[in-house]
Amino acid sequence: MSDILSNENRVNAINAASVHNLKDGVFNCPFCHALQAAYDAISMHSFSYSNGLLHTVVYVTCHVCGETSICLVSSYHPIVGDKIDFNSTEFAEQLLFPTDGSKDAPSLNPDMPTDAAKTYKEAADILDKSPRSAVALLRLALQQLVDSLIIGSGNLDTKIGKLVQNGLSVRIQQMLDSIRVIGNNAVHPGQIDLSDHDDAKHIALSLFSMINAIVQSEITDQHSLDEIYKMIPDGQKQHIDQRDSH
Ligand SMILES: [Zn+2]
Repeated sequence: MSDILSNENRVNAINAASVHNLKDGVFNCPFCHALQAAYDAISMHSFSYSNGLLHTVVYVTCHVCGETSICLVSSYHPIVGDKIDFNSTEFAEQLLFPTDGSKDAPSLNPDMPTDAAKTYKEAADILDKSPRSAVALLRLALQQLVDSLIIGSGNLDTKIGKLVQNGLSVRIQQMLDSIRVIGNNAVHPGQIDLSDHDDAKHIALSLFSMINAIVQSEITDQHSLDEIYKMIPDGQKQHIDQRDSH
């Protein structure tokens, strides 16, 4: 077997592999921050160095938002059959475009309501330059999220109280209050010091994860439960209602 592929075969090998295997099948879109977005990949240009490392510029179009990112995909062969082995640990990719935004911010839960998701993305974009701004924006994203869960007037504090009355878990309530209080500190002078860049970034990263966990609990898991509960026959539901009314 030859260890040298023609350029055409190299491009085809990367095309075939990267459509399914870009970063082990996970494409975290830097535009909409969709987690594991479906995507199309088109190899634009392949070139390699004498040490056998093959670099290819790949255009990746996200199926969620339709935006196109540009990645540099690099791999050493081993070649398996006539294809490059993308399961190799030496397979790597680097985002070339867009250059804005932090690679550290976790991808957002795709069930996040649109306006909160837009603010979350804005927070991710500013994270490296100003983590304190990211914290303030996450506080706003939380307000937008809670406004979609509890319709009507009332400030964030009051609405969190209503969610607690409706049976919110203590863990989620603590997350909500953490984002609310720390976010307030990012805007108004308070007792939580966000002046140190690294400390503030560390806190911001926790808040990104928390807001995703809140969406997971209150929207994603709730939808799944509603779907399953719909399958229970009406007679059984009446029995359950009667049981719990005593
Ligand atoms: Zn996208």
